[in-house]
Amino acid sequence: MTAVRTDTQWLQCVRCGARHAIGIYAFGCPTCLAQGREGPLDFGVDVADGVPAGFQAAWDAGPKHNIWRYGDLLPAADDPLSLDEGGTPITFLDDLSAELGLNVYVKNETMNPTWSFKDRHAAVNLTMARQHGYTKVVASSTGNAGQAVAAYAALAGLRALVIGYPSSSELLRRVMQIHGAAVVTMPKSEIGGMMRELVEHHGWLPVGSSDPNPLASPYGVTGYKTIGYEIASALGKAPDTVLVPTGGGDSLYGVWRGLIDLRDMGLIDRLPRMVGCQTEATHPLLHALSHNRHEIEVQPEPVSLATSIIEGRCGVHTLQALYASGGTATAVSEAELRQAIRLMAGRGFFFESASLATIASLLRLHGEGYFRPGETVVCVITGSGVKWPDVINQVAPAAPHLEQPSVAALADVMDL
Ligand SMILES: [Zn+2]
Repeated sequence: MTAVRTDTQWLQCVRCGARHAIGIYAFGCPTCLAQGREGPLDFGVDVADGVPAGFQAAWDAGPKHNIWRYGDLLPAADDPLSLDEGGTPITFLDDLSAELGLNVYVKNETMNPTWSFKDRHAAVNLTMARQHGYTKVVASSTGNAGQAVAAYAALAGLRALVIGYPSSSELLRRVMQIHGAAVVTMPKSEIGGMMRELVEHHGWLPVGSSDPNPLASPYGVTGYKTIGYEIASALGKAPDTVLVPTGGGDSLYGVWRGLIDLRDMGLIDRLPRMVGCQTEATHPLLHALSHNRHEIEVQPEPVSLATSIIEGRCGVHTLQALYASGGTATAVSEAELRQAIRLMAGRGFFFESASLATIASLLRLHGEGYFRPGETVVCVITGSGVKWPDVINQVAPAAPHLEQPSVAALADVMDL
């Protein structure tokens, strides 16, 4: 890997544009903070001299495991953490493509080490946390982020605290504890205040995405850029549209930023439309777009099958990406999510319901005539369905038990 000198890397506020030296800014842009507002920071790297040699080699080789092969465009790391995340499949859905008259792919992030896209975030974020001398990291999480933080903290030798809430995945809370993380739950409304206190007074570094404020972890978001690199590398071009399930919105923004890197280096010649996929339960992006607003209004967080994306508070950087890409946002219903679960399960995939907001949105937008015939569309599938037993229990009944098995008894419960 070619090391990038830190004087060619920086953090830049997406709200006020101020540049800051590489470092840890737990509450976002200091300039904005002084003016009493949240300024998400974005990692930047100088590519004015064209494609760095190491990046070119990784690009030419196509998607492979370990995101640090793209290290030229990631934060300069002395000792990068990796569980061989990334290099996930991008799968062409031939029958759905034929049915819709599109070229539909899924970028299958369930194939990561902890079965979600959050591994890319944690790999970069915890690398930088350790590099800057932190020994304690804290994240609030419904499940995926917490599991990734717990796994990479174990690898890094860092202490991890994951704060969940009653509706987050109990299964994953137990998995996190097996990794060695401390895990607690509390009412969601209390988490922001608790994290702020831990960060300000007790030496903990926030490594999630939405608390204390969106894009609090610009390095983690940088990990998501590699999804964009891999999509374009595998397709040999930029897709026309990319659909991303969107909670806090860091993943959509990260994929978009990765594609911008490729455009800036001349590796792709155009950018896709980005679609932020949310649910009827809570959809701050669609709300902002439909009112032509450039700020996110916080929405309530009711219950949905798509637990991972019910955050009512989405980052303004994500909204900016939708405007800049000429894309849109959606709000799919619970019935559409159930339909998408069955549609993909019937093709052999068991994805988490939040991820399936992309497939549900694809069908919805197709019905509304959003796509041009023959477009290449990528749905980013962020996590595995097996992580969410509560959802599984809502969608499938318990299998019948045959205490005295016989063919006759079997015939009572199914057609032979
Ligand atoms: Zn700022």
